[in-house]
Amino acid sequence: DVDASPYINHPIEVAETIARVGQVTDLVVLQSAILHDTIEDTMTTGDELEALFGAEVRRVVEEVTDDKHLPKAERKQLQIEHAPHLSQRAQLVKLADKISNIRAVTDTPPADWSLERRLDYLDWTERVVAGLRGCNAPLEALYDQLLTQGRAHLTADGEDNSWS
Ligand code: ZN
Repeated sequence: DVDASPYINHPIEVAETIARVGQVTDLVVLQSAILHDTIEDTMTTGDELEALFGAEVRRVVEEVTDDKHLPKAERKQLQIEHAPHLSQRAQLVKLADKISNIRAVTDTPPADWSLERRLDYLDWTERVVAGLRGCNAPLEALYDQLLTQGRAHLTADGEDNSWS
């Protein structure tokens, strides 16, 4: 974002939301939440995750990892198609990830994102989350609330992109 927030804030937020809002105490889910972007965004391998955190955490992280060999548009389409088929643990991580992402895109977007791109992003998350319904009611309710607020905020802002 414009403040160049530390990378670690996002995975911490995802895990914190799952624990506090979702009332989830499953350590595999919470560890996977902290680690969910490591394979996608760093040099970390599945083998390393398994050696340090076990096969279950590895599996959840791999479930929520996009295939970076595919073009961006295809990866986004596959997230929509795969969401209903994820394990429940992976669905929790995916849902909390989208909660964190729509918060960021609403309040602290990347500096070069247009209003249209931000609204399109919110629309896309709604299609992914449609496939996650039934995994955790409080998290789904929070997502719905933030999506509504985000759309209202972005459309009310108009030309004034002050997200402070
Ligand atoms: Zn993430």
